[in-house]
Amino acid sequence: MKNIVVQKFGGTSVRNLECMRQVLQNVRRPLGAGSKVIVVLSAMAGETNRLLALAKEWSSCPDAAELDSLVSTGEQISVALFAIMAKDEGINCRSVLGFQVPIVSNDSYGKARIGSIDSEKLIGMLEDHDVLVVAGFQGVDEHGRITTLGRGGSDTSAVAVAAALKAEVCEIYTDVPGVFTTDPNMCAEAKKLDRISYDEMLEMASMGAKVLQIRSVEFAKKYNVVVHVRSTFSDEPGTIVTQEDANMETVQVSGVAYDKDQAQVTLVGVLDEPGVCASVFTPIAEKKILVDMIVQNPSKEGRTDITFTVGRADLDATLRLMEALKPEIGFKALLSDKSVSKVSVIGVGMRNHSGVAAQAFRAMRDENINILMISTSEIKLSCLIEDKYTELAVRTLHQTFVGQEQVG
Ligand code: ADP
Ligand code: ASP
Ligand code: MG
Repeated sequence: MKNIVVQKFGGTSVRNLECMRQVLQNVRRPLGAGSKVIVVLSAMAGETNRLLALAKEWSSCPDAAELDSLVSTGEQISVALFAIMAKDEGINCRSVLGFQVPIVSNDSYGKARIGSIDSEKLIGMLEDHDVLVVAGFQGVDEHGRITTLGRGGSDTSAVAVAAALKAEVCEIYTDVPGVFTTDPNMCAEAKKLDRISYDEMLEMASMGAKVLQIRSVEFAKKYNVVVHVRSTFSDEPGTIVTQEDANMETVQVSGVAYDKDQAQVTLVGVLDEPGVCASVFTPIAEKKILVDMIVQNPSKEGRTDITFTVGRADLDATLRLMEALKPEIGFKALLSDKSVSKVSVIGVGMRNHSGVAAQAFRAMRDENINILMISTSEIKLSCLIEDKYTELAVRTLHQTFVGQEQVG
């Protein structure tokens, strides 16, 4: 079998015929060099949102499995249209849906995790075709039902296929020329990184930089797939996401990320005794709701407040759950706030530099931005702030830490 190249194109890259022709130009490059190509496509820009909104018109709480059947159609449209166009251009290709590969996942509809990919079958199909156009975002569970892999999941489809086929590189084509020190659409000073380590990219993605889905980076790290993030619309090299190397350590902070998909929940006046946190967070985990930051205040007269954050889409379910558990948990009041966001600074170099947190707090103070919650890891500092200050905070932190530095 010839060399296999995996390329993924996001929604803006397939939004119309003209863009799809541009995609084909990118596919022709490895094809011309004698490789077989697996092209993983997202739904056309806006299509997944349109389908989700449609479901919400039909039901305030759509059945999760049916919702996956619905939203996965966005990718089916893209791969079929692309294959129609590419065949007209003389390319020996076919479209392949998630269940046809199959890409087998668990049954966590809406956020399914890939368990296995039938690489033999893909290789068999590649014997008859030069290009396979694989639908991103889609999986199939062991009951044969269609699943989806979470927003941005086509990145994960592509990296997982690359891992299954032991491809050395997975090219992720998007609407920006690579991974930047922060969102280039929010901060004009953002600089493109030539290289970034898996761990930093994981933190960037976890902290909201949606250029790569978190799980795609986890896969890449686990199976040692080098990811090349680059623009569909230019030939310039993008960003290589790979193992950490010595040069990366020299930069203290490699990026600033933000996540507006945050909601804050406070349980006021819970009893400060063993087992209370377990009784709050176990049922939340059982509902597969991800909790991010958690803060417990010092107790006063045997009672305390617990504040935590969840994704905005999970807020209503979390509040319903807490209300239902009120007799068991025994809190006095339940508060929530959807107008919060999280800003983070990330860098492997933070391991060897002290004072990053203090510097970040001073920068926020100088702009009069109040910090609601803080969380840290070895290579990251995150602050929850009022949503309306997100852009200001990103620019300020970027200016403070990255503005003057040489990166790359
Ligand atoms: P696609 O549809 O190609 O998957 P996405 O919209 O999911 O594209 O991701 C690309 C977007 O990610 C960019 O348009 C940019 O606004 C955003 N982004 C956020 N943080 C970063 C970052 N650090 N570097 C590059 N892009 C970023
Ligand atoms: N179409 C899906 C989404 O909009 C998956 C993807 O684009 O990666 O989230
Ligand atoms: Mg994406």
